[in-house]
Amino acid sequence: MMTRFRALLLTAALASVVSGFSRAVAAQDSDLDPRIVKLVATVSEERLGLILKKLESFETRSTLSSTASATRGVGAARQWILTEMQAFSPKLQVSFDTYHVPKQGRIARDVELRNVMAVLPGRSPRRIYVSGHYDTLARPGGQGAANAAAPTDADARTAPAADPNAPLDNLAPGVNDDGSGTALTIELARLFSQSGIDFDATLVFMCHVGEEQGLVGARLHAQKAVAEKIPIEAVLNNDIVGGDHGGNGIVDGATIRVYAEGPEDSPSRQLARFIQRWGGRYVPSHKVRPMARPDRFGRGGDHSAYNQLGFTAVGFRESRENFTRQHDVRDTYEGISLPYLAQNARVNAAAAATLALAPAPPDVLNDRRQPMITRAPSGYDANLKWNAVPGAAAYRIFWREAWGSDWQQDVRVGNVTSAILPNMQIDDYVFGVASIDAGGHESFVTAYVSGPRTNTPITTKPGS
Ligand SMILES: [Zn+2]
Repeated sequence: MMTRFRALLLTAALASVVSGFSRAVAAQDSDLDPRIVKLVATVSEERLGLILKKLESFETRSTLSSTASATRGVGAARQWILTEMQAFSPKLQVSFDTYHVPKQGRIARDVELRNVMAVLPGRSPRRIYVSGHYDTLARPGGQGAANAAAPTDADARTAPAADPNAPLDNLAPGVNDDGSGTALTIELARLFSQSGIDFDATLVFMCHVGEEQGLVGARLHAQKAVAEKIPIEAVLNNDIVGGDHGGNGIVDGATIRVYAEGPEDSPSRQLARFIQRWGGRYVPSHKVRPMARPDRFGRGGDHSAYNQLGFTAVGFRESRENFTRQHDVRDTYEGISLPYLAQNARVNAAAAATLALAPAPPDVLNDRRQPMITRAPSGYDANLKWNAVPGAAAYRIFWREAWGSDWQQDVRVGNVTSAILPNMQIDDYVFGVASIDAGGHESFVTAYVSGPRTNTPITTKPGS
């Protein structure tokens, strides 16, 4: 009762004080964009299945497998992915993103790495990525033995002896890890490029390679993006998103995990909240479970390669993994649930389309890189400022109690760059702001957070 009373007071106060606030506009924003509804509905289970069967037919897509064959190995696989995406639309710019990598770390020989990249140019250069990794790995016992610390998995297949010229040429079908993320990426490249929608952001559908050797293809691309100042705004990486049967017998085809590195109000966490908010609206039958950690224990994925170079990136992971199939010759088509993979593709499509139609998220820092939040004018108010975003027609302010994981309240304001929320102690809440275009497409939130404090050591006199 108490909480409700406080909320009502807040709303009344907001309506009178927040400049540009309009109830009529706030009511209309629950409407979904029919073009995105259609895009989401276009995801095809049948096509996802055909792509997975084709990927499986290459027998191995190991980064270090032989490239001599036209039908087997990583060379054949990357060529097929390239040709497949080239056929989708003349608007789609498909190319190899190639690197020559000398022997190092888990790269057991000099190798040419080729990510396969499809770019759908938007009106602006800012980029939204949907990605997976097409390379595979299988080793005796697979991930099941590694997890259980069991050297003798009774049912484990042993990979054939390695060829020194192609040290990872053994069977490694990788249909879920990460044929699933690759198929999702290829399918979204098709439906976005054929949608006829004029996106603001440039969309990039990226099939990485070298993931199993330490996120190598993703790291190389992220390094290039830093060097060439490519404005990557968000990366939606999908890795092992096709199975709904956990290895422990638990089945869950209705939820998807989204891992996001901290700290708690990092852009990657905002991206995860955004995916939950907009994935939930366009695909209400599928639940997004944001995970406030970089990834699973002891496991890694390509989103982290982007995070480590300062980019906003999250990792989609199926809710119930079957470790005995991972990194194992048993990672076959039989382990896939096409309805589940399609639901995950729909959530990706809804989030990526909304982001790409929305303006960029606001910048809330002043020129000294401090968040523009004060207690003015009364000394007890929340006074928020942000920099105007090109293409924005409105903004939405979000807040929550400072001990909380997700936004609790929000209010839409007009095309302004400041707002005052009276008697809201900025020390008790986390605040954020998102930008909205004339069509109601919303960016992810930028939160008002203080940077870490500098530590000034105290010196003492000798002997004191
Ligand atoms: Zn993987």
